Amino acid sequence: MSAKIIDGKAISQQIKDELKEKTAALKEKGIEVTLAVILVGEDPASQVYVRNKKRACEYIGYNSLSYELPAETSQEELLKLIDELNGRKDVDGILVQMPLPKHIDEKTVINAIDPSKDVDGFHPINVGALVVGDKGFVSCTPAGVIQLLKRGTDGYDISGKECVIIGRSNIVGKPMSLLMLRENATVTIAHSRTKNLEEVCKRADIIIAAVGKAGVITRDHVKEGAVVIDVGINRSKDGKLCGDVKYDEVSEIASYITPVPGGVGPMTIAMLMNNCYEAALLHNA
Ligand code: NDP
Repeated sequence: MSAKIIDGKAISQQIKDELKEKTAALKEKGIEVTLAVILVGEDPASQVYVRNKKRACEYIGYNSLSYELPAETSQEELLKLIDELNGRKDVDGILVQMPLPKHIDEKTVINAIDPSKDVDGFHPINVGALVVGDKGFVSCTPAGVIQLLKRGTDGYDISGKECVIIGRSNIVGKPMSLLMLRENATVTIAHSRTKNLEEVCKRADIIIAAVGKAGVITRDHVKEGAVVIDVGINRSKDGKLCGDVKYDEVSEIASYITPVPGGVGPMTIAMLMNNCYEAALLHNA
C-alpha cells in the first residue's frame, strides 16, 4: 500500500481563494482588511516569510503595512510602535515576525499586542480562550493541520481516533493537542522525555510530528494505515528541505501523509490570512 498525499499547496490555495471571494464581498460593504507586519533585523529566513505574507495579502485583497526596523531597534521603540498600531482603527492584525533580536523579550512583545489584533494567536488571552473553548485566534500552524485533516483525507473522521502529537511547544505541540481534543480525538503528547516513543506512536491512528529533527519518525513508529502529518522543517545532510518523518519508508504503510515541502508549510500563511479576515469581522461587528 502506498499512502495518499495530502496536498498542502492545493488546500492552502483553496482557502486563499475562498478568502479572496469573501474579502471582495466585505469590500462592497465598505470594510477593508489590513495586516501590519513588523520585522526587526535582517534575518534572511524571516525576510522570506514576511515577503510571502505580504504577497498573500496582495493576492487576497488585504492592505498590508510593512515596518522593517533595524536590528538595533530597542524594545521600547518596538513596544511604542505596537501601541500605536493597537490604537489604529484601520489596522486589524499585527504580526511581529519571530525570532526577535536577543535584546528584545519575545513574551513582553507578544503580551503587548491587542488580543483582538493578535492574528498569530500567541497572546495568553487567545491561548487561554483555546483552553476553555472560547472564541479566539488560534496559532496558525496547528489550525492549518486541522484543515489538512478535514479537507485532505476524503472525509476521514477524527472523532474518537487515537492521536499522538510529538512535540509540546507553545506554537505547535500544545495548541495542536487542544485542537485535536476539540475534534474529539483521544490525545497523547510525546516529547524528549517520553519513554518508548516507538511504542507510544504505534498506538496512533493519527501521528502529528512537530519535533524539528530530520527523520526521527521512522517506519517503526507508525501503525499500518495511520494518517501522518509532518510539521517539521529541517535541512538534511545534503542540504535538502525535509520533515521529521522518513517519508519514503513511512509513505509505504501510512494511509495519508503530508510531504515536506508542500504539506503543512503552505497552510500556516493561509490560516494567518484567515485570522486576519476574522479580525476584520470582529472589528466591524
Ligand atoms: P521546538 O523546538 O520548540 O519543540 C520541539 C519539541 O520536540 C519539544 O517539545 C521537544 O521536547 C520535542 N523533541 C525534541 N527531540 C525529541 C525527540 N528525540 N523525541 C521526541 N520529542 C522530541 O519546535 P517547534 O514546535 O517550534 O517546531 C517544531 C518543528 O516544526 C520545527 O522543525 C519547525 O521548523 C517546524 N515548524 C513548522 C512550521 C510550518 O509552518 N510548517 C511552523 C512552526 C514550526 P521537549 O519539550 O522535551 O524539549
